[in-house]
Amino acid sequence: MDYPGNLFVVAAPSGAGKSSLVKALLELDSRVQLSISHTTRAPRGQEKNGREYHFVSAEEFNQMVAADAFVEWAQVHSQRYGTSKAAIKDRMASGADVVLEIDFQGAIQIKNIFSNAVCIFILPPSWEELRSRLERRGEDSPDIIDMRMKNAALEVAQVGKFDFVIINELFDRALFDLKSIVQAQRLKVSAQRRARADTFQALNIP
Ligand code: 5GP
Repeated sequence: MDYPGNLFVVAAPSGAGKSSLVKALLELDSRVQLSISHTTRAPRGQEKNGREYHFVSAEEFNQMVAADAFVEWAQVHSQRYGTSKAAIKDRMASGADVVLEIDFQGAIQIKNIFSNAVCIFILPPSWEELRSRLERRGEDSPDIIDMRMKNAALEVAQVGKFDFVIINELFDRALFDLKSIVQAQRLKVSAQRRARADTFQALNIP
């Protein structure tokens, strides 16, 4: 499947800092737009419907699956999450760069559909640091933290399926790495040919 913009997929175990990195990228770069997923989980804290997620019932999610409305979906930590076709179609068609912040199962599905998608995996610098970040976040009970740590071990084993890996040890360094990947992708001949078709034409490049 071809599209004018670039598609970036960012996956990471919970606590590796994926959301903060993506949020900082969006603030720095107005050409990148975030895809808003659907989920069956309930909103947390200040989350608003349509901003962080489209919050839907299990029934509504089933209906969307049956209507083939998702590009990908997966079960994560006993809830379901999916990227709807509607969430990315218009943004991609307009030539915007779209970023999907999704789990590794979704990332692999996206790569199978959009072979040009750039899949980025964020790793914590160590298991000790991941656990201490989850503890410091103060969102989860010790049982849930243990479950997240077990899941994280399975998730990081998938890193070989990704195009890029960022080790989030120092936030600023990791953000620089993420920006570098975005910029390098934009400078690929195929991406430049699409984005700067007028210049290519003016230079008589076939
Ligand atoms: P949370 O409930 O903490 O917001 O998200 C839990 C996990 O689900 C995170 O790893 C998040 O990236 C992932 N996730 C969010 N949206 C999607 C989606 O549309 N598809 C998939 N496959 N995973 C998602």
